[in-house]
Amino acid sequence: MNDSNHIVTLQGGCLCGAIRYAIDAILIDAGFCHCKLCQRASGAPAVAWLTIPFTGFSYTQGEIGVYASSANYQREFCSHCGTPLAFRAMQDPKTIDVTLCSLDDPTAVKPQYHIWCQSKINWLHLDDDLPQFMDAGPDEL
Ligand SMILES: [Zn+2]
Ligand SMILES: [Zn+2]
Repeated sequence: MNDSNHIVTLQGGCLCGAIRYAIDAILIDAGFCHCKLCQRASGAPAVAWLTIPFTGFSYTQGEIGVYASSANYQREFCSHCGTPLAFRAMQDPKTIDVTLCSLDDPTAVKPQYHIWCQSKINWLHLDDDLPQFMDAGPDEL
C-alpha cells in the first residue's frame, strides 16, 4: 500500500497522560532522524517521526512545553514528564512532525527512510532496506 494520499486518523499522548493529541490528516511521510538535535532531545540514538500538514494536528488535552532547538524550529513536549511530541516551524508552519512512538498505536505508520545518517551512532546497526540519506534527504523543506 502506498502511504501517500492516505488519510490517517490517529491519537497519541505523553508518558504521564497529561498531554493528548489528535491527528486527522493526509500523511506526508514518516522516517527515522539520526540528527544530533533529535539524539539530544530524546536521549535515544534516533527518533521516528511522521509528517503531516500542520492543520491536521491538534492538542486535545494538557499544556505543552516548547523549546526553540534552532533558529526557526521548535520542539514541543510534555512539561511534566518530558515526552518529546512534536517539531515544527515557529512561524507559519506548513507541516508538523510528530514522534511516531507517542502514538497510541505506533504500528499504524511505518517509517520509510533514514535521514541525517552522517551523525548515526556507530553502534546502531540498521538491517532494514530503507533508503539512508546523509542529510535531510530529498524532501528537505
Ligand atoms: Zn506527560
Ligand atoms: Zn532530527
